[in-house]
Amino acid sequence: MIKAHNITLGYNENIVPIKNFSFDFLHGVYYIRGISGSGKSTLLLGLAGLMTPVSGRIEMGSEKIAMVFQESRLVTTYSAEQNLSLVCSSGDEIKDALSKVELSEFAKKPVCKLSGGQARRVAIARALCYGGDCIIMDEPFEGLDAALRKRIAVHIRTRFPLIIIASHDEQDAKLLSEDGELTEIFLDDKN
Ligand code: ADP
Ligand code: MG
Repeated sequence: MIKAHNITLGYNENIVPIKNFSFDFLHGVYYIRGISGSGKSTLLLGLAGLMTPVSGRIEMGSEKIAMVFQESRLVTTYSAEQNLSLVCSSGDEIKDALSKVELSEFAKKPVCKLSGGQARRVAIARALCYGGDCIIMDEPFEGLDAALRKRIAVHIRTRFPLIIIASHDEQDAKLLSEDGELTEIFLDDKN
């Protein structure tokens, strides 16, 4: 559970993408949509507790939150396996997460030698490996073909009871929901 109580998130007094936002994220899939620049990434950082609200507050249960950042945030000189080892000490779990994103054969390759879509999958595997009660994903499937999105989505939805995703494609959010049910949150640019 993550509850946003009237939160305002901004970078300075002129750039305040999220104003007085309230919402209860309980369980299931929550789909954040809005045009580029409407504040999706800002909101996700706020919900993850990585950006302090200017006003309002975020209430969390005992959540451990896994995150897939918009810009992956991997150590590009490390291999996929080494990146996962930063959040997980079990070699078996690391192997399992890399196999779920179909990257086992690239486990030892430095991330800087992978394609954009492969690197994206390392970021998803890291979140799977990290685990927790909630996953927050910022345009997670960029660079992945439709069939692969579908296969990876199954692993995410069976692992996390609460999923919050920002994407330009509603289909991505639907894949994460067992029955296609989701709660949509629309951020307009005047939010
Ligand atoms: P979205 O994810 O919907 O494309 P963002 O949350 O990334 O939108 O950005 C919302 C607004 O905040 C944009 O106007 C963007 O330029 C601005 N912004 C984002 N990150 C920063 C930052 N680190 N510093 C200053 N402004 C930022
Ligand atoms: Mg964004």
